[in-house]
Amino acid sequence: MTLSSLHLELPALPGELAGLRREVRRFVAAERAAGTLPYPDKVGLGFSPDVSKRIAAQGWIGMTWPKKYGGHERSALERYVVTEELLAAGVPVGAHWITDRQSGPVLLKFGTEEQRQEWLPKIVRAEVAFCIGMSEPDSGSDLASLRTSGTKVEGGWRVNGSKLWTTNAHRVHCMIALIRTAPAEEKSRQAGLTQILIPLDAPGVGIRPIKSMVGLEDFNEVHFENVFIPDGNVVGAPGNGWNQVSAELAYERSGPERWLSSFRLLAELVEALGPAPSDAAQVEIGRLFAQLMAVRQISLSIASMLEAGKTPNLEASIAKDIGTRLEQEIVRTVRNVVQQEGLLASADLPALRALLASAQRYSPAFTIRGGTGEILRGVIARGLGLR
Ligand SMILES: Cc1cc2nc3c(=O)[nH]c(=O)nc-3n(C[C@H](O)[C@H](O)[C@H](O)COP(=O)(O)OP(=O)(O)OC[C@H]3O[C@@H](n4cnc5c(N)ncnc54)[C@H](O)[C@@H]3O)c2cc1C
Repeated sequence: MTLSSLHLELPALPGELAGLRREVRRFVAAERAAGTLPYPDKVGLGFSPDVSKRIAAQGWIGMTWPKKYGGHERSALERYVVTEELLAAGVPVGAHWITDRQSGPVLLKFGTEEQRQEWLPKIVRAEVAFCIGMSEPDSGSDLASLRTSGTKVEGGWRVNGSKLWTTNAHRVHCMIALIRTAPAEEKSRQAGLTQILIPLDAPGVGIRPIKSMVGLEDFNEVHFENVFIPDGNVVGAPGNGWNQVSAELAYERSGPERWLSSFRLLAELVEALGPAPSDAAQVEIGRLFAQLMAVRQISLSIASMLEAGKTPNLEASIAKDIGTRLEQEIVRTVRNVVQQEGLLASADLPALRALLASAQRYSPAFTIRGGTGEILRGVIARGLGLR
């Protein structure tokens, strides 16, 4: 089995998408040949505004959005193919990723016409990027208990409080934050929450990067001290934040990044094993590959549901729970096969060695970010009427 056969064995999508898949592979190959796209040596999305701009120039950001906002009016499945290819190749997409996946769609669905006109064309050109301000020091899984507050003042809101684990806050332009603008109600703890767009250079915003155990500074603490945010930056209706965030999480939880984070590692292993892997290695890789294909089918069907305008929260939770556990399983299996086959002794495999070292330290995050496995299984149980 070779790396290229690993790619080619992916089940076929509708015929016209094969051309797009080839287009993305040609782009990646040309960038690699030009030396502008280094091979990844770490697990994670990587962050390169330049690469994001070149991806934007191909028309691969805001792919499904209306042309009047700079989008390309292509289908969710076309977007899926582009996403899958870029991730499988380990292209650093972090500088536009979250914005394209969920901040833009939130503005499209709930934002005002002014907000859409102001932000979406810039997102499509990879000129601005957003981060997600949900988690707080004492509110992660129990998001409705968050305490960052917005107090109504003349012409806007005064925001006070802190967000935690905010990916990329130190290198993007805006946050879509979930804040409390009215007290919770006795019957609904989720009432009184509002989404608000906070420019990260506003006076009173303080950002402190946090070093993860991989040694990267990808996420942050973000503090707000009397930050003035004009009324025009409220996204959707005040008090509707919980509904909006629920819709947003379907985008966050179902995409191919929920099962492809460690794919490069598997691809490197297949390449390192060469054309005649041992029987034991073939069994392990075959097992992972079968599981990847099953998760991919689930993830693809959710892309179709999103395309049809549905909000598949239950299905997205299933995809993320199964997908992220598989990502961790890939790391464990690769480590075992590498040991079993004595590959670590080879000086010729620096990429495999580096990726494995980073994946082992990064993989606990797969089942935490975007909602922990325990919380997802609670959502699934509720969705199935079991609690
Ligand atoms: C790499 C990474 C990037 C992230 N990026 C962002 C970001 O950009 N923006 C953002 O807002 N957040 C981000 N997060 C935060 C992430 O969403 C939270 O860490 C996650 O939701 C869990 O919240 P917590 O850390 O407060 O853990 P807690 O909620 O304190 O949970 C601790 C443990 O208790 C378990 N637990 C909690 N409640 C229950 C329950 N009711 N039943 C069963 N078990 C339970 C959890 O599953 C977990 O194992 C990121 C996290 C990581 C790791």
